[in-house]
Amino acid sequence: MTSETKTVGHWIGGRAVEGASGAYGPVTDPATGEVTTRVALASAEEVDAAVAAAKAAYATWGTSSLAARTSVLFAYRALLDARRDDLARLITAEHGKVHADALGEVARGLEIVELACGITTQLKGELSTQVSNRVDVAAIRQPLGVVAGITPFNFPAMVPMWMFPLAIACGNTFVLKPSEKDPSAALLLAELAAEAGLPEGVLNVVNGDRVAVERLLEHPDVAAVSFVGSTPIARHIHATASAHGKRVQALGGAKNHMLVLPDADLDAAADAAVSAAYGSAGERCMAVSAVVAVGDTGDALVAKIRDRAEKIKIGPGSDPTSEMGPLITAEHRDRVASYVRGAAAQGAEVVLDGTGFTVEAEGYEKGHWIGLSLLDKVSPDADAYRDEIFGPVLCVLRAETYEEGIALINASPWGNGTAVFTRDGGAARRFQLEVQAGMVGVNVPIPVPVGYHSFGGWKDSLFGDHHIYGNDGVHFYTRGKVVTTRWPDPEDGGVDLGFPSHK
Ligand code: NAD
Repeated sequence: MTSETKTVGHWIGGRAVEGASGAYGPVTDPATGEVTTRVALASAEEVDAAVAAAKAAYATWGTSSLAARTSVLFAYRALLDARRDDLARLITAEHGKVHADALGEVARGLEIVELACGITTQLKGELSTQVSNRVDVAAIRQPLGVVAGITPFNFPAMVPMWMFPLAIACGNTFVLKPSEKDPSAALLLAELAAEAGLPEGVLNVVNGDRVAVERLLEHPDVAAVSFVGSTPIARHIHATASAHGKRVQALGGAKNHMLVLPDADLDAAADAAVSAAYGSAGERCMAVSAVVAVGDTGDALVAKIRDRAEKIKIGPGSDPTSEMGPLITAEHRDRVASYVRGAAAQGAEVVLDGTGFTVEAEGYEKGHWIGLSLLDKVSPDADAYRDEIFGPVLCVLRAETYEEGIALINASPWGNGTAVFTRDGGAARRFQLEVQAGMVGVNVPIPVPVGYHSFGGWKDSLFGDHHIYGNDGVHFYTRGKVVTTRWPDPEDGGVDLGFPSHK
Protein backbone atom coordinates (compact mmCIF):
# COMPACT_ATOMS: atom_id res chain seq x y z
CA MET A 1 0.00 0.00 0.00
CA THR A 2 1.19 3.52 -0.72
CA SER A 3 0.06 7.00 0.33
CA GLU A 4 -2.00 6.93 -2.89
CA THR A 5 -4.08 4.07 -1.54
CA LYS A 6 -7.72 5.12 -1.28
CA THR A 7 -9.93 3.98 1.57
CA VAL A 8 -13.41 2.62 1.11
CA GLY A 9 -15.86 2.57 4.01
CA HIS A 10 -19.59 1.85 4.22
CA TRP A 11 -22.86 3.47 3.13
CA ILE A 12 -25.25 3.67 6.05
CA GLY A 13 -28.36 5.80 6.52
CA GLY A 14 -27.92 7.61 3.21
CA ARG A 15 -24.30 8.68 3.61
CA ALA A 16 -20.72 7.44 3.31
CA VAL A 17 -19.40 6.30 6.67
CA GLU A 18 -15.78 5.56 7.52
CA GLY A 19 -14.83 2.20 8.94
CA ALA A 20 -14.80 2.26 12.75
CA SER A 21 -13.47 -1.21 13.54
CA GLY A 22 -9.89 -0.33 12.59
CA ALA A 23 -9.74 -3.47 10.42
CA TYR A 24 -9.04 -3.12 6.70
CA GLY A 25 -8.50 -5.51 3.81
CA PRO A 26 -6.50 -4.91 0.62
CA VAL A 27 -8.15 -4.39 -2.78
CA THR A 28 -5.80 -5.13 -5.65
CA ASP A 29 -5.81 -4.06 -9.28
CA PRO A 30 -5.50 -7.55 -10.82
CA ALA A 31 -3.78 -6.18 -13.94
CA THR A 32 -0.90 -4.58 -12.02
CA GLY A 33 -0.91 -6.61 -8.82
CA GLU A 34 -0.79 -3.32 -6.88
CA VAL A 35 -2.94 -2.71 -3.82
CA THR A 36 -4.97 0.37 -4.79
CA THR A 37 -7.55 0.49 -2.02
CA ARG A 38 -8.07 -0.45 1.59
CA VAL A 39 -11.58 -1.62 2.35
CA ALA A 40 -13.05 -1.29 5.81
CA LEU A 41 -14.02 -4.59 7.40
CA ALA A 42 -17.12 -4.01 9.50
CA SER A 43 -17.42 -5.14 13.11
CA ALA A 44 -20.68 -6.61 14.42
CA GLU A 45 -21.53 -3.17 15.84
CA GLU A 46 -21.19 -1.53 12.42
CA VAL A 47 -23.47 -4.18 10.94
CA ASP A 48 -25.93 -3.43 13.73
CA ALA A 49 -25.83 0.27 12.78
CA ALA A 50 -26.67 -0.57 9.15
CA VAL A 51 -29.52 -2.89 10.17
CA ALA A 52 -30.83 -0.21 12.56
CA ALA A 53 -30.81 2.36 9.72
CA ALA A 54 -32.66 -0.10 7.48
CA LYS A 55 -35.18 -0.88 10.20
CA ALA A 56 -35.88 2.80 10.84
CA ALA A 57 -36.34 3.42 7.10
CA TYR A 58 -38.71 0.45 6.80
CA ALA A 59 -41.23 2.23 9.06
CA THR A 60 -42.05 4.59 6.18
CA TRP A 61 -40.69 2.83 3.07
CA GLY A 62 -42.63 -0.35 3.86
CA THR A 63 -45.91 1.54 3.55
CA SER A 64 -44.86 4.01 0.85
CA SER A 65 -46.99 4.14 -2.28
CA LEU A 66 -46.09 2.13 -5.33
CA ALA A 67 -46.02 5.41 -7.25
CA ALA A 68 -43.38 6.82 -4.87
CA ARG A 69 -41.23 3.70 -5.17
CA THR A 70 -41.41 3.44 -8.92
CA SER A 71 -40.68 7.12 -9.47
CA VAL A 72 -37.38 6.63 -7.58
CA LEU A 73 -36.62 3.48 -9.58
CA PHE A 74 -37.24 5.20 -12.93
CA ALA A 75 -34.88 8.03 -11.88
CA TYR A 76 -32.35 5.42 -10.75
CA ARG A 77 -32.56 3.62 -14.07
CA ALA A 78 -31.77 6.87 -15.90
CA LEU A 79 -28.78 7.62 -13.65
CA LEU A 80 -27.37 4.12 -14.01
CA ASP A 81 -27.77 4.33 -17.75
CA ALA A 82 -25.85 7.60 -17.81
CA ARG A 83 -23.10 6.20 -15.56
CA ARG A 84 -22.63 2.77 -17.22
CA ASP A 85 -19.11 3.63 -18.24
CA ASP A 86 -18.04 4.79 -14.75
CA LEU A 87 -19.43 1.64 -13.19
CA ALA A 88 -17.68 -0.52 -15.78
CA ARG A 89 -14.36 1.25 -15.16
CA LEU A 90 -14.64 0.62 -11.41
CA ILE A 91 -15.39 -3.05 -12.07
CA THR A 92 -12.39 -3.43 -14.37
CA ALA A 93 -10.06 -1.68 -11.91
CA GLU A 94 -10.89 -4.06 -9.06
CA HIS A 95 -12.07 -7.24 -10.79
CA GLY A 96 -9.88 -7.17 -13.89
CA LYS A 97 -12.47 -8.15 -16.53
CA VAL A 98 -12.30 -6.28 -19.82
CA HIS A 99 -14.29 -3.07 -20.18
CA ALA A 100 -16.76 -4.48 -22.75
CA ASP A 101 -17.51 -7.40 -20.43
CA ALA A 102 -17.96 -5.03 -17.48
CA LEU A 103 -20.42 -2.99 -19.56
CA GLY A 104 -22.31 -6.23 -20.27
CA GLU A 105 -22.50 -6.91 -16.55
CA VAL A 106 -23.97 -3.45 -15.93
CA ALA A 107 -26.51 -3.98 -18.74
CA ARG A 108 -27.69 -7.29 -17.26
CA GLY A 109 -28.02 -5.65 -13.82
CA LEU A 110 -30.03 -2.80 -15.35
CA GLU A 111 -32.55 -5.38 -16.59
CA ILE A 112 -33.55 -6.02 -13.00
CA VAL A 113 -33.91 -2.30 -12.26
CA GLU A 114 -36.22 -2.16 -15.29
CA LEU A 115 -38.17 -5.12 -13.94
CA ALA A 116 -38.45 -3.31 -10.60
CA CYS A 117 -39.81 -0.21 -12.38
CA GLY A 118 -42.80 -2.40 -13.34
CA ILE A 119 -43.41 -3.72 -9.82
CA THR A 120 -46.94 -2.28 -9.92
CA THR A 121 -48.03 -5.14 -12.17
CA GLN A 122 -46.22 -7.80 -10.15
CA LEU A 123 -47.87 -6.73 -6.88
CA LYS A 124 -51.45 -6.52 -8.17
CA GLY A 125 -52.65 -9.41 -6.01
CA GLU A 126 -55.73 -11.55 -6.58
CA LEU A 127 -59.39 -11.03 -5.77
CA SER A 128 -62.24 -13.54 -5.72
CA THR A 129 -65.64 -11.94 -5.31
CA GLN A 130 -68.72 -13.60 -3.87
CA VAL A 131 -66.95 -16.77 -2.71
CA SER A 132 -69.95 -17.08 -0.40
CA ASN A 133 -72.90 -14.81 0.25
CA ARG A 134 -71.48 -11.27 0.42
CA VAL A 135 -67.98 -12.67 1.06
CA ASP A 136 -64.90 -11.65 -0.96
CA VAL A 137 -61.35 -13.00 -0.67
CA ALA A 138 -58.25 -10.95 -1.55
CA ALA A 139 -54.70 -12.33 -1.69
CA ILE A 140 -52.05 -9.66 -1.25
CA ARG A 141 -48.28 -9.74 -0.88
CA GLN A 142 -46.46 -7.57 1.62
CA PRO A 143 -42.78 -6.81 2.22
CA LEU A 144 -40.72 -8.74 4.76
CA GLY A 145 -38.84 -5.89 6.46
CA VAL A 146 -35.04 -5.68 6.46
CA VAL A 147 -33.40 -7.96 3.89
CA ALA A 148 -29.67 -8.71 3.60
CA GLY A 149 -27.70 -9.48 0.45
CA ILE A 150 -24.24 -11.10 0.42
CA THR A 151 -22.51 -11.11 -2.94
CA PRO A 152 -19.44 -12.59 -4.69
CA PHE A 153 -16.46 -10.92 -6.34
CA ASN A 154 -17.13 -12.02 -9.90
CA PHE A 155 -20.08 -9.71 -10.64
CA PRO A 156 -19.58 -6.78 -8.26
CA ALA A 157 -22.42 -4.73 -9.81
CA MET A 158 -24.76 -7.22 -11.49
CA VAL A 159 -25.29 -9.64 -8.61
CA PRO A 160 -26.15 -6.87 -6.09
CA MET A 161 -28.53 -5.55 -8.78
CA TRP A 162 -30.14 -9.00 -8.99
CA MET A 163 -31.23 -8.39 -5.40
CA PHE A 164 -31.80 -4.91 -4.02
CA PRO A 165 -33.82 -3.20 -6.81
CA LEU A 166 -36.55 -5.82 -6.58
CA ALA A 167 -36.34 -6.08 -2.78
CA ILE A 168 -36.82 -2.33 -2.32
CA ALA A 169 -39.49 -2.15 -5.04
CA CYS A 170 -41.43 -4.68 -2.95
CA GLY A 171 -41.17 -2.30 0.03
CA ASN A 172 -38.26 -3.88 1.93
CA THR A 173 -35.16 -2.08 3.07
CA PHE A 174 -31.79 -3.59 2.32
CA VAL A 175 -28.31 -4.18 3.77
CA LEU A 176 -25.77 -5.27 1.15
CA LYS A 177 -22.46 -6.94 2.05
CA PRO A 178 -20.44 -6.93 -1.19
CA SER A 179 -17.28 -8.94 -1.81
CA GLU A 180 -14.31 -7.42 0.00
CA LYS A 181 -12.22 -8.08 -3.13
CA ASP A 182 -13.98 -5.46 -5.29
CA PRO A 183 -16.25 -3.26 -3.13
CA SER A 184 -16.27 0.07 -4.99
CA ALA A 185 -18.98 -0.64 -7.60
CA ALA A 186 -21.52 -1.42 -4.85
CA LEU A 187 -20.82 1.90 -3.16
CA LEU A 188 -21.39 3.79 -6.41
CA LEU A 189 -24.67 1.89 -6.85
CA ALA A 190 -25.78 3.08 -3.40
CA GLU A 191 -24.67 6.67 -4.03
CA LEU A 192 -26.62 6.80 -7.29
CA ALA A 193 -29.71 5.41 -5.57
CA ALA A 194 -29.53 8.27 -3.07
CA GLU A 195 -29.12 10.72 -5.95
CA ALA A 196 -32.23 9.23 -7.55
CA GLY A 197 -34.19 10.10 -4.40
CA LEU A 198 -34.13 6.85 -2.46
CA PRO A 199 -34.80 7.83 1.17
CA GLU A 200 -31.92 7.36 3.60
CA GLY A 201 -31.60 3.94 5.16
CA VAL A 202 -33.53 2.09 2.42
CA LEU A 203 -30.29 0.80 0.85
CA ASN A 204 -27.19 0.36 3.02
CA VAL A 205 -23.81 -1.13 2.19
CA VAL A 206 -21.54 -2.65 4.83
CA ASN A 207 -18.18 -3.80 3.64
CA GLY A 208 -16.50 -6.64 5.41
CA ASP A 209 -15.70 -10.29 5.63
CA ARG A 210 -16.92 -13.29 7.60
CA VAL A 211 -17.48 -11.19 10.74
CA ALA A 212 -20.04 -8.99 8.99
CA VAL A 213 -21.71 -11.97 7.31
CA GLU A 214 -22.10 -13.92 10.55
CA ARG A 215 -23.71 -10.93 12.25
CA LEU A 216 -26.20 -10.51 9.41
CA LEU A 217 -27.10 -14.21 9.57
CA GLU A 218 -27.99 -14.06 13.25
CA HIS A 219 -29.36 -10.51 13.52
CA PRO A 220 -32.92 -10.64 14.88
CA ASP A 221 -34.03 -7.71 12.70
CA VAL A 222 -32.96 -9.29 9.40
CA ALA A 223 -35.96 -11.09 7.93
CA ALA A 224 -34.36 -12.69 4.87
CA VAL A 225 -30.99 -13.33 3.28
CA SER A 226 -30.09 -13.54 -0.41
CA PHE A 227 -26.65 -15.02 -1.02
CA VAL A 228 -24.61 -15.66 -4.15
CA GLY A 229 -21.14 -17.23 -3.92
CA SER A 230 -19.34 -20.57 -3.67
CA THR A 231 -21.07 -23.82 -2.71
CA PRO A 232 -19.47 -24.38 0.73
CA ILE A 233 -20.36 -20.85 1.86
CA ALA A 234 -23.84 -21.07 0.29
CA ARG A 235 -24.50 -24.25 2.24
CA HIS A 236 -23.33 -22.58 5.46
CA ILE A 237 -25.41 -19.44 4.81
CA HIS A 238 -28.52 -21.50 4.14
CA ALA A 239 -28.12 -23.61 7.28
CA THR A 240 -27.22 -20.71 9.58
CA ALA A 241 -29.79 -18.19 8.36
CA SER A 242 -32.50 -20.89 8.41
CA ALA A 243 -31.54 -21.84 11.96
CA HIS A 244 -32.10 -18.19 12.89
CA GLY A 245 -35.59 -18.30 11.41
CA LYS A 246 -34.87 -16.34 8.26
CA ARG A 247 -36.08 -16.88 4.73
CA VAL A 248 -32.98 -17.67 2.67
CA GLN A 249 -31.94 -18.25 -0.92
CA ALA A 250 -28.27 -19.21 -1.36
CA LEU A 251 -26.90 -19.63 -4.86
CA GLY A 252 -23.66 -21.61 -5.04
CA GLY A 253 -20.94 -22.67 -7.44
CA ALA A 254 -21.12 -24.62 -10.67
CA LYS A 255 -19.57 -26.87 -13.24
CA ASN A 256 -21.49 -26.14 -16.42
CA HIS A 257 -21.54 -28.69 -19.20
CA MET A 258 -22.02 -28.26 -22.91
CA LEU A 259 -23.14 -31.43 -24.70
CA VAL A 260 -22.15 -31.48 -28.37
CA LEU A 261 -24.06 -34.05 -30.41
CA PRO A 262 -22.65 -35.52 -33.64
CA ASP A 263 -25.03 -33.51 -35.87
CA ALA A 264 -24.11 -30.13 -34.32
CA ASP A 265 -22.61 -27.28 -36.32
CA LEU A 266 -19.08 -27.75 -34.98
CA ASP A 267 -17.90 -24.25 -35.89
CA ALA A 268 -20.79 -22.70 -33.97
CA ALA A 269 -20.15 -25.09 -31.08
CA ALA A 270 -16.45 -24.22 -31.00
CA ASP A 271 -17.21 -20.46 -31.08
CA ALA A 272 -19.65 -20.93 -28.21
CA ALA A 273 -17.29 -23.11 -26.17
CA VAL A 274 -14.44 -20.61 -26.43
CA SER A 275 -16.66 -17.61 -25.61
CA ALA A 276 -18.32 -19.34 -22.67
CA ALA A 277 -15.22 -21.02 -21.24
CA TYR A 278 -12.74 -18.16 -21.43
CA GLY A 279 -14.95 -15.03 -21.21
CA SER A 280 -14.20 -13.12 -18.00
CA ALA A 281 -11.21 -15.51 -17.63
CA GLY A 282 -13.65 -18.28 -16.67
CA GLU A 283 -14.69 -16.41 -13.51
CA ARG A 284 -18.40 -16.75 -14.23
CA CYS A 285 -20.82 -19.03 -12.45
CA MET A 286 -22.33 -19.74 -15.87
CA ALA A 287 -18.98 -20.35 -17.60
CA VAL A 288 -18.84 -23.57 -19.60
CA SER A 289 -16.05 -25.52 -17.94
CA ALA A 290 -16.79 -28.99 -19.37
CA VAL A 291 -17.57 -29.88 -22.98
CA VAL A 292 -18.93 -33.38 -23.53
CA ALA A 293 -18.21 -34.43 -27.11
CA VAL A 294 -20.50 -37.22 -28.27
CA GLY A 295 -19.61 -39.89 -30.84
CA ASP A 296 -16.83 -38.99 -33.23
CA THR A 297 -17.05 -35.18 -32.76
CA GLY A 298 -14.19 -34.97 -30.23
CA ASP A 299 -11.07 -34.66 -32.37
CA ALA A 300 -12.52 -32.11 -34.80
CA LEU A 301 -14.13 -30.09 -32.03
CA VAL A 302 -10.97 -29.94 -29.92
CA ALA A 303 -8.97 -28.78 -32.96
CA LYS A 304 -11.48 -26.01 -33.67
CA ILE A 305 -11.52 -24.89 -30.02
CA ARG A 306 -7.71 -24.84 -29.92
CA ASP A 307 -7.49 -22.75 -33.11
CA ARG A 308 -9.86 -20.16 -31.70
CA ALA A 309 -8.41 -20.14 -28.16
CA GLU A 310 -4.87 -19.54 -29.45
CA LYS A 311 -6.00 -16.24 -31.00
CA ILE A 312 -7.51 -14.72 -27.84
CA LYS A 313 -5.68 -11.58 -26.78
CA ILE A 314 -4.96 -11.39 -23.06
CA GLY A 315 -4.17 -8.07 -21.45
CA PRO A 316 -5.33 -5.35 -19.05
CA GLY A 317 -9.09 -4.92 -19.00
CA SER A 318 -8.69 -1.19 -19.63
CA ASP A 319 -7.04 -1.88 -23.02
CA PRO A 320 -9.86 -2.01 -25.61
CA THR A 321 -7.97 -4.61 -27.63
CA SER A 322 -7.84 -7.11 -24.73
CA GLU A 323 -10.35 -9.95 -24.89
CA MET A 324 -9.47 -11.58 -21.57
CA GLY A 325 -8.09 -10.01 -18.41
CA PRO A 326 -6.23 -11.36 -15.36
CA LEU A 327 -7.59 -13.41 -12.46
CA ILE A 328 -8.81 -11.81 -9.26
CA THR A 329 -5.83 -12.62 -7.00
CA ALA A 330 -2.35 -14.14 -7.32
CA GLU A 331 -3.41 -16.99 -4.98
CA HIS A 332 -6.37 -17.80 -7.17
CA ARG A 333 -4.15 -17.72 -10.28
CA ASP A 334 -1.76 -20.21 -8.61
CA ARG A 335 -4.65 -22.48 -7.61
CA VAL A 336 -6.02 -22.47 -11.19
CA ALA A 337 -2.54 -23.25 -12.54
CA SER A 338 -2.19 -26.22 -10.17
CA TYR A 339 -5.15 -27.95 -11.86
CA VAL A 340 -3.52 -27.60 -15.28
CA ARG A 341 -0.14 -28.79 -13.97
CA GLY A 342 -1.73 -31.83 -12.35
CA ALA A 343 -3.95 -32.76 -15.32
CA ALA A 344 -1.53 -34.91 -17.33
CA ALA A 345 -0.73 -37.08 -14.31
CA GLN A 346 -4.45 -37.76 -14.02
CA GLY A 347 -4.74 -38.90 -17.62
CA ALA A 348 -5.69 -35.75 -19.55
CA GLU A 349 -4.12 -34.59 -22.80
CA VAL A 350 -2.95 -31.01 -22.25
CA VAL A 351 -3.76 -29.38 -25.60
CA LEU A 352 -3.12 -25.82 -24.39
CA ASP A 353 -1.20 -24.95 -21.23
CA GLY A 354 -1.72 -21.34 -20.17
CA THR A 355 0.24 -21.54 -16.94
CA GLY A 356 3.40 -19.85 -18.14
CA PHE A 357 1.66 -16.85 -19.64
CA THR A 358 2.54 -13.34 -18.52
CA VAL A 359 2.20 -9.76 -19.76
CA GLU A 360 5.59 -8.11 -20.18
CA ALA A 361 4.42 -4.51 -20.66
CA GLU A 362 5.77 -2.11 -18.07
CA GLY A 363 3.59 -1.84 -15.00
CA TYR A 364 1.78 -5.10 -15.65
CA GLU A 365 4.55 -7.57 -14.79
CA LYS A 366 3.00 -8.36 -11.41
CA GLY A 367 -0.57 -8.81 -12.73
CA HIS A 368 -2.42 -12.03 -11.97
CA TRP A 369 -1.96 -13.41 -15.48
CA ILE A 370 -2.67 -16.82 -16.80
CA GLY A 371 -3.27 -18.01 -20.34
CA LEU A 372 -5.98 -20.25 -21.75
CA SER A 373 -5.78 -23.96 -21.01
CA LEU A 374 -7.53 -26.77 -22.88
CA LEU A 375 -7.56 -30.28 -21.45
CA ASP A 376 -8.81 -33.17 -23.61
CA LYS A 377 -9.93 -36.72 -22.75
CA VAL A 378 -10.38 -35.68 -19.13
CA SER A 379 -11.49 -38.46 -16.81
CA PRO A 380 -14.62 -37.83 -14.72
CA ASP A 381 -12.42 -38.72 -11.73
CA ALA A 382 -9.79 -36.06 -12.44
CA ASP A 383 -9.54 -33.09 -10.04
CA ALA A 384 -9.78 -30.66 -12.97
CA TYR A 385 -13.24 -32.05 -13.71
CA ARG A 386 -14.47 -32.71 -10.19
CA ASP A 387 -13.70 -29.25 -8.73
CA GLU A 388 -14.95 -25.82 -9.72
CA ILE A 389 -11.70 -24.26 -11.00
CA PHE A 390 -13.16 -20.79 -11.78
CA GLY A 391 -10.47 -19.90 -14.29
CA PRO A 392 -9.74 -20.15 -18.03
CA VAL A 393 -9.49 -23.95 -18.13
CA LEU A 394 -11.78 -25.98 -20.37
CA CYS A 395 -12.08 -29.75 -19.89
CA VAL A 396 -13.27 -31.88 -22.81
CA LEU A 397 -14.75 -35.27 -21.98
CA ARG A 398 -15.69 -37.91 -24.51
CA ALA A 399 -18.94 -39.89 -24.56
CA GLU A 400 -19.97 -42.63 -27.01
CA THR A 401 -23.68 -41.80 -26.97
CA TYR A 402 -26.24 -39.16 -25.92
CA GLU A 403 -27.24 -41.43 -23.01
CA GLU A 404 -23.65 -41.65 -21.76
CA GLY A 405 -23.25 -37.87 -22.09
CA ILE A 406 -26.37 -36.93 -20.16
CA ALA A 407 -25.62 -39.52 -17.48
CA LEU A 408 -22.24 -37.84 -16.98
CA ILE A 409 -23.86 -34.39 -16.67
CA ASN A 410 -26.54 -35.62 -14.30
CA ALA A 411 -23.94 -37.30 -12.07
CA SER A 412 -22.37 -33.89 -11.35
CA PRO A 413 -23.13 -32.54 -7.88
CA TRP A 414 -23.87 -29.15 -9.45
CA GLY A 415 -26.79 -28.17 -11.68
CA ASN A 416 -26.52 -24.49 -12.56
CA GLY A 417 -26.49 -24.00 -16.35
CA THR A 418 -26.04 -26.46 -19.19
CA ALA A 419 -26.32 -26.43 -22.96
CA VAL A 420 -26.88 -28.82 -25.84
CA PHE A 421 -25.55 -28.18 -29.33
CA THR A 422 -27.47 -30.04 -32.02
CA ARG A 423 -29.58 -29.60 -35.16
CA ASP A 424 -32.02 -32.28 -33.98
CA GLY A 425 -35.13 -30.75 -32.36
CA GLY A 426 -36.16 -34.07 -30.85
CA ALA A 427 -32.80 -34.56 -29.17
CA ALA A 428 -32.83 -30.99 -27.88
CA ARG A 429 -36.31 -31.46 -26.44
CA ARG A 430 -35.29 -34.71 -24.77
CA PHE A 431 -32.25 -32.96 -23.27
CA GLN A 432 -34.37 -30.10 -21.88
CA LEU A 433 -36.60 -32.56 -20.07
CA GLU A 434 -33.95 -35.00 -18.89
CA VAL A 435 -31.09 -32.78 -17.76
CA GLN A 436 -30.81 -31.95 -14.07
CA ALA A 437 -29.99 -28.25 -14.10
CA GLY A 438 -31.88 -25.04 -13.47
CA MET A 439 -30.98 -23.22 -16.70
CA VAL A 440 -30.75 -24.90 -20.09
CA GLY A 441 -29.48 -23.55 -23.40
CA VAL A 442 -30.27 -25.04 -26.79
CA ASN A 443 -27.44 -23.85 -29.03
CA VAL A 444 -26.99 -21.07 -26.42
CA PRO A 445 -23.89 -21.61 -24.28
CA ILE A 446 -24.62 -19.25 -21.36
CA PRO A 447 -28.39 -19.40 -20.84
CA VAL A 448 -28.68 -16.63 -18.22
CA PRO A 449 -32.42 -15.88 -18.15
CA VAL A 450 -33.63 -12.36 -18.96
CA GLY A 451 -34.73 -10.25 -15.98
CA TYR A 452 -38.42 -11.15 -16.19
CA HIS A 453 -37.65 -14.86 -15.86
CA SER A 454 -35.76 -16.21 -12.85
CA PHE A 455 -32.14 -17.33 -12.41
CA GLY A 456 -31.16 -20.33 -10.37
CA GLY A 457 -29.58 -23.75 -10.38
CA TRP A 458 -30.41 -27.15 -8.96
CA LYS A 459 -28.56 -29.43 -6.55
CA ASP A 460 -25.39 -27.88 -5.02
CA SER A 461 -25.85 -24.74 -7.12
CA LEU A 462 -28.76 -23.45 -5.03
CA PHE A 463 -29.92 -23.96 -1.47
CA GLY A 464 -33.47 -22.77 -0.80
CA ASP A 465 -36.73 -22.81 -2.74
CA HIS A 466 -36.53 -19.60 -4.71
CA HIS A 467 -34.52 -18.74 -7.77
CA ILE A 468 -33.40 -15.12 -7.93
CA TYR A 469 -35.13 -12.16 -9.69
CA GLY A 470 -38.17 -12.49 -11.99
CA ASN A 471 -41.37 -13.86 -10.40
CA ASP A 472 -39.38 -15.94 -7.94
CA GLY A 473 -37.59 -12.78 -6.78
CA VAL A 474 -40.87 -10.96 -6.13
CA HIS A 475 -42.15 -14.01 -4.29
CA PHE A 476 -38.97 -14.25 -2.21
CA TYR A 477 -39.08 -10.58 -1.16
CA THR A 478 -42.79 -10.63 -0.19
CA ARG A 479 -45.05 -12.76 1.95
CA GLY A 480 -48.64 -13.64 1.31
CA LYS A 481 -51.70 -12.54 3.20
CA VAL A 482 -55.26 -13.60 2.42
CA VAL A 483 -58.09 -11.34 3.52
CA THR A 484 -61.66 -12.66 3.76
CA THR A 485 -64.22 -9.83 3.87
CA ARG A 486 -67.92 -9.77 4.56
CA TRP A 487 -70.24 -6.78 4.61
CA PRO A 488 -73.39 -8.21 6.20
CA ASP A 489 -76.93 -7.24 5.27
CA PRO A 490 -79.42 -6.58 8.08
CA GLU A 491 -81.01 -10.02 7.55
CA ASP A 492 -77.68 -11.77 8.28
CA GLY A 493 -76.86 -12.61 11.83
CA GLY A 494 -77.53 -15.14 14.53
CA VAL A 495 -75.05 -17.30 16.41
CA ASP A 496 -73.63 -20.29 14.50
CA LEU A 497 -70.99 -22.46 16.22
CA GLY A 498 -70.31 -24.50 13.08
CA PHE A 499 -67.02 -24.16 11.20
CA PRO A 500 -67.40 -21.40 8.58
CA SER A 501 -68.43 -22.99 5.30
CA HIS A 502 -69.17 -21.51 1.93
CA LYS A 503 -72.76 -21.49 0.88
P1 NAD B 1 -17.28 -16.75 -1.84
O1 NAD B 1 -18.25 -17.79 -1.46
O2 NAD B 1 -15.86 -16.89 -1.40
O3 NAD B 1 -17.75 -15.31 -1.28
C1 NAD B 1 -19.06 -14.85 -1.45
C2 NAD B 1 -19.42 -13.91 -0.30
O4 NAD B 1 -19.36 -14.65 0.94
C3 NAD B 1 -18.47 -12.73 -0.14
O5 NAD B 1 -19.23 -11.58 0.17
C4 NAD B 1 -17.57 -13.14 1.01
O6 NAD B 1 -17.12 -12.05 1.76
C5 NAD B 1 -18.47 -14.04 1.85
N1 NAD B 1 -17.70 -15.09 2.52
C6 NAD B 1 -16.58 -15.72 2.08
N2 NAD B 1 -16.17 -16.65 2.97
C7 NAD B 1 -17.05 -16.62 3.99
C8 NAD B 1 -17.19 -17.36 5.21
N3 NAD B 1 -16.32 -18.30 5.55
N4 NAD B 1 -18.24 -17.07 6.01
C9 NAD B 1 -19.12 -16.13 5.69
N5 NAD B 1 -19.05 -15.39 4.54
C10 NAD B 1 -18.04 -15.64 3.70
O7 NAD B 1 -17.38 -16.59 -3.43
P2 NAD B 1 -16.47 -15.70 -4.39
O8 NAD B 1 -15.12 -16.32 -4.49
O9 NAD B 1 -16.58 -14.26 -4.03
O10 NAD B 1 -17.25 -15.89 -5.77
C11 NAD B 1 -17.04 -16.96 -6.64
C12 NAD B 1 -18.03 -18.09 -6.38
O11 NAD B 1 -19.36 -17.61 -6.50
C13 NAD B 1 -17.92 -19.21 -7.40
O12 NAD B 1 -18.07 -20.44 -6.73
C14 NAD B 1 -19.09 -18.96 -8.34
O13 NAD B 1 -19.56 -20.11 -9.01
C15 NAD B 1 -20.11 -18.45 -7.38
N6 NAD B 1 -21.14 -17.68 -8.06
C16 NAD B 1 -22.37 -18.25 -8.20
C17 NAD B 1 -23.36 -17.56 -8.86
C18 NAD B 1 -24.72 -18.15 -9.04
O14 NAD B 1 -25.59 -17.44 -9.49
N7 NAD B 1 -24.95 -19.41 -8.71
C19 NAD B 1 -23.10 -16.28 -9.38
C20 NAD B 1 -21.84 -15.73 -9.21
C21 NAD B 1 -20.86 -16.44 -8.54
